[in-house]
Amino acid sequence: MGLVKIHGHTCYIPGATNAGVYTTKSGYCLLIDSGINNTIAHKIKDVLAASGLKPKYLLTTHGHADHFGAHRLLKEFYPGLEILASAGEKIFMEDNLLGVKALYGALPFAEIKIPLLFARPVGVDSTISPGPLKLLDQRIQAIATPGHAAGHLAFLTPDGVLFSGDAVFHPAILAKYPLPFLQDIKAQLATLEALAGLEIKYLLPAHSPEVIADPAPVLASNRRQINACLDRITELLTRPLTREDLLAELAIQENLPMDIPQYFLNLASLSAFLSYLKDQGRVACALESGRLYFYNH
Ligand SMILES: [Zn+2]
Repeated sequence: MGLVKIHGHTCYIPGATNAGVYTTKSGYCLLIDSGINNTIAHKIKDVLAASGLKPKYLLTTHGHADHFGAHRLLKEFYPGLEILASAGEKIFMEDNLLGVKALYGALPFAEIKIPLLFARPVGVDSTISPGPLKLLDQRIQAIATPGHAAGHLAFLTPDGVLFSGDAVFHPAILAKYPLPFLQDIKAQLATLEALAGLEIKYLLPAHSPEVIADPAPVLASNRRQINACLDRITELLTRPLTREDLLAELAIQENLPMDIPQYFLNLASLSAFLSYLKDQGRVACALESGRLYFYNH
């Protein structure tokens, strides 16, 4: 599929990771996220060429491989392209081992370095902070949206279209991943609340089969799913369980997707939920015979 118009000058290139495109009359455009690999970079180049567009800026919502994996080849296609990301996410884009090390807790074995988690590193030309960005004579609003990733940014175009990256999951994604990948539950709940207060005409999560015209129900379903996970975990911990045993229970009951990389993604997200519950005093933990048990007391 080619370039799809959302509203005004705001378009996107649909894909496993949707790439945002904001066009201007000059023929220059800016991109929001790219995709997972070189194949996607070729696709973006072809779509832009067919529309007579040349990208000047490439904004990055966060430093996960499926969002910046096509950046490096795009930079080779367009040497003048300026790659932008928050300071917190830049480090993950420039050191491609950092993300998988954080996920595994050390240098991981090869099986974890799948394209979803491990992309070619790319240099970030300028770091950006939340607030208005003046690009191509247009005002793009960068919005701090931590939770899924600490330095996550969402981008609101002058047409009122919010590219929310992975700060909001489409209901189809929530159904596929009952334990969504989150690193900081408190931050994510605050992000969802902040987004609910914005004037948004259209919302496009990075992984979404459609543009969302009414963001409120989708934001509410994201909040509901987090609360359901918190309740489910608390309920399972009426008997003491290690983190690993708790994950196994959830995997069976909630039918979590599982392979070796997904195991580590699920375990990391479960750890985020446990930290939140622990800090709220809703669960406790204790060491016994070298095992760390969590329990609801
Ligand atoms: Zn992500």
